[in-house]
Amino acid sequence: MQQKEQLYEGKAKKVFATENPDYVIVSYKDDATAFNGLKKGTISGKGVINNKMSNLMMSMLEKKGIPTHLVEQIDDRNTIVKKVSIVPLEVIIRNVAAGSFSKRYGVPEGTAFASPTIEFSYKNDDLGDPLINDYHALALNLATAQEIETIKKMAFSVNDAMKEFFRGLNIDLIDFKLEFGRFKGEIVLADEISPDTCRFWEAGSWDTTKHVSLDKDRFRRDLGGVEDAYEEIFKRISK
Ligand code: UDP
Repeated sequence: MQQKEQLYEGKAKKVFATENPDYVIVSYKDDATAFNGLKKGTISGKGVINNKMSNLMMSMLEKKGIPTHLVEQIDDRNTIVKKVSIVPLEVIIRNVAAGSFSKRYGVPEGTAFASPTIEFSYKNDDLGDPLINDYHALALNLATAQEIETIKKMAFSVNDAMKEFFRGLNIDLIDFKLEFGRFKGEIVLADEISPDTCRFWEAGSWDTTKHVSLDKDRFRRDLGGVEDAYEEIFKRISK
């Protein structure tokens, strides 16, 4: 499919039009940002890993009955996806306390939850993606009540499928962020699933005092071994 003009450039990806108005090409970059763009850097080879990993995850989820934006991978960095209109909500599922949850609620990182949590942030860089609830999302017309219900159900199904998948690779899925889009009236899983958007901890490596991260926290927290962590995750999922 022929690549046409660039429609958008984000922090980690570019989006191009195609000759088919229903499809766009997503092109993954090695650029990395954290803390709402305050920290910037490059993770060499990240674009290739995130492209392939996200496609593997989306294919696995499609097989479990979860509709996604994935159409076809073109090459190492480029994938054809459905042209969706993104619901401006970041949907975060957590199995274990970490990151902003730990800070906000004073719970040590590594505290396992009895059952997973879900939260929404309003996707708005100028406001720093503030936490919002369902009623705020409805009041702001970000999604309909039915869409919010669908998104919640799908997000927990993604969690069930991914937790099981990663458990088999000796990795604990701590938390992750999803984005959803509308395509021909249907809610589909969009954006990406990668070490940029998930926390992966080496199974058995953690309690509330320490853990081994195989994800973007190695970049955010200057832990070193960033590229190695991305490669390790990818090696395990592609076996
Ligand atoms: N996350 C993301 N994009 C964001 C914010 C969070 O992909 O803009 C992911 C992050 O990688 C983690 C999960 O969502 O897997 C929960 O992140 P948290 O709210 O703890 O924020 P952080 O500590 O990363 O600021």
